[in-house]
Amino acid sequence: MEEEKLNVAMFSIHSCPVGELGTKDTGGMNVYIRELAGELGNRGHRVDIYTRVHDPNDPQVIHLNENVRVIHLRAGKNGYMHKVAIYPYLDDFTGTLENFILRENLHYDLIHSHYWLSGQVGRWAQARWNVPHMLMFHTLGAVKNSTGVGEDEPLLRITTERQIVQNCHRIIAATEREKSELMRFYCAESGKMNVVPCGVNMEVFQPVDKGSARRQLGFSDDEKIVLYVGRFAALKGIDRLLKAMTHLRHHNGLKLVIVGGDGHGAPEFEAIQRLSSELGINDMISFIGRIEQGDLPPYYSAADLLAVPSYHESFGLVALEALACGTPVVATEVGAMNSVICEGKTGSVVADSRPQAFARAIHDFFSKPRHAMESADSIRNSVRQFNWSHVAKAMIEKYESMLADFNFSKMKVLGARAQAAQSGRTAIL
Ligand code: UDP
Repeated sequence: MEEEKLNVAMFSIHSCPVGELGTKDTGGMNVYIRELAGELGNRGHRVDIYTRVHDPNDPQVIHLNENVRVIHLRAGKNGYMHKVAIYPYLDDFTGTLENFILRENLHYDLIHSHYWLSGQVGRWAQARWNVPHMLMFHTLGAVKNSTGVGEDEPLLRITTERQIVQNCHRIIAATEREKSELMRFYCAESGKMNVVPCGVNMEVFQPVDKGSARRQLGFSDDEKIVLYVGRFAALKGIDRLLKAMTHLRHHNGLKLVIVGGDGHGAPEFEAIQRLSSELGINDMISFIGRIEQGDLPPYYSAADLLAVPSYHESFGLVALEALACGTPVVATEVGAMNSVICEGKTGSVVADSRPQAFARAIHDFFSKPRHAMESADSIRNSVRQFNWSHVAKAMIEKYESMLADFNFSKMKVLGARAQAAQSGRTAIL
């Protein structure tokens, strides 16, 4: 049976889906929104993704494909704002949103919000438009605080997240772990949640011949390359990885290649460079800066392994991307690592949080004979089931079931009102 075509309003208020990946607030969530919306559009659903004006030079409307638009609306100043500083301007945002919708005579079947700030706008819209509201948090304030890493998230965020959890119609968690965290820290009802894993673009992320990739990037064949790809946020654990490197000095030619970050001058970058100097490992580290996603496959292919040293991840897309390129992954036990890495065959998950333990896993990897790991093709095959068209298909099912539940409740309310009117009573609903 053909799918009913849906009109979806997505909110990604604090971070622009077309922003520069690997920088401050722009990473996995943006990839998720772009890829999911793109797939929904390919299937004929219409998606409007609303975000703040992050760059005054961006046009108000950008078409990602024939059915998908990114729409920039004003909230606070036009340009970068700290996430929490956006909160007081959310009313501003809903005001411009209302005008835009009236002007274009738009109607949506459902709302899909990403992150707590968008969830707050979604709460407003669900009441205003009388449509169901699905939420994906991507990260949760209380969970972040429980790691004790980086700055504490404000109570405002956690209180708002609690209200959204109670109020929205459906919550998507990327892993069973995230679902448990939602139950443990936010008392989320299990029946309101669905687990839908993230995906990887298997066309973009393909193995490149290791030798050619290394020549292209200026690395030599005899180097042992450990790669890091991602933002420079404290939770990413680059400090743990640098400390692990100090235990690996005896490996001749071992090099840590770091991709991502906002570059020289950014406080996070300066802090990592300072730590590297303090640890005396500058000669082992190469800082590459941020790389366009389409240019990442040679980096993944040139590397012997990808390191994911995070203290917390909601999923960890870079692991899937490396595996799709045939490169093994050594990771801490975060996000989806336990379900995407096949222990000893496509990488290793390190349960012990100490840098020495992470170093030991890297050491073991380089000490093993080459044939102990799967071939690049088998590693790639191990993640074939994670693709964005599966994510979109699963999401459409969840949209449909949320809509059915929502319409059923609406009918019940209308029915009770009609009955009460017939019997001359006032329905208390
Ligand atoms: N990324 C990129 N260029 C960079 C660094 C990262 O395109 O220089 C992308 C990377 O390919 C991945 C995303 O940013 O898709 C990071 O997602 P992940 O889930 O690993 O981390 P998050 O940003 O969600 O914490």
